[in-house]
Amino acid sequence: MRPAPMLACLTMKADQSQLFDTHVHLDRLGPDQDSATALAEAGRAGVGAWLVPGVRRQHWPDLLSLAGAPRIWAAPGLHPMMAGQWGAAAEVELAELLQRPECVAVGEIGLDGLLDVPFQLQEPAFRGQLRLAVAAGKPVLIHCRRAWGELLAILRQEQAGRVGGILHGFGGSPRIASEALELGFVIAFGGPLTYPNARKRVEVLRTLPVEAIVLETDAPDLPPHPHRKEPNRPEWLPLIARRVAEIRGWSLAETARITTANARRVLNLQKEWGQN
Ligand SMILES: [Zn+2]
Repeated sequence: MRPAPMLACLTMKADQSQLFDTHVHLDRLGPDQDSATALAEAGRAGVGAWLVPGVRRQHWPDLLSLAGAPRIWAAPGLHPMMAGQWGAAAEVELAELLQRPECVAVGEIGLDGLLDVPFQLQEPAFRGQLRLAVAAGKPVLIHCRRAWGELLAILRQEQAGRVGGILHGFGGSPRIASEALELGFVIAFGGPLTYPNARKRVEVLRTLPVEAIVLETDAPDLPPHPHRKEPNRPEWLPLIARRVAEIRGWSLAETARITTANARRVLNLQKEWGQN
């Protein structure tokens, strides 16, 4: 479905108090949300910028049509569950997409040890996409579960530190977080941080340097507390920001300023901010 024209609130100049949702699937929200309504609601809630990651190849055109709007960017790529779609044709198409200014990153890519897809398929898809990202000078959005040793080794081998990126849905240890930081990555906090049993994520958030923290909803997945039984919505990013603020002892305005500045830095959006 093509997104409707953006509403007036989205064309206002972004200010530093606005939140940046670094991982939101605007192209596949819940049944009661179209992307234009979701963006307007998120805008009213204080969200001012969005990065839409790819999952499967046939949805890449949807990412592009969304990313034509102000302060919406795309990160085309293949999720590890779609690793079977990787091959010569996908590689050519992705390389072409990465020439476009609105495609600011490659995502969501990585390794997932909980999927039914063998690593023999996942690894070449991950490496191939990483290589394109490094060659294009664009950062990557990483999805990783139960495969951190392999993933960090591949990031090093493929020199991912030259572009850096964001660890999405991070559920690893503080040690893994600090290894990723050394490679130029930052860590996105989403709905799971708000759960009462989020001990590990809270510990990671407490120990991170200020410049390594960004926010994400992953809508329609990973809804924050108290909405865990519903599809996640982009307008709930402030619930996550509030929890980050509590844990770090920041005001909500500081949280927005810090995390938005971090997202812009890692995604190389310093100049484009005013123009897109
Ligand atoms: Zn995602």
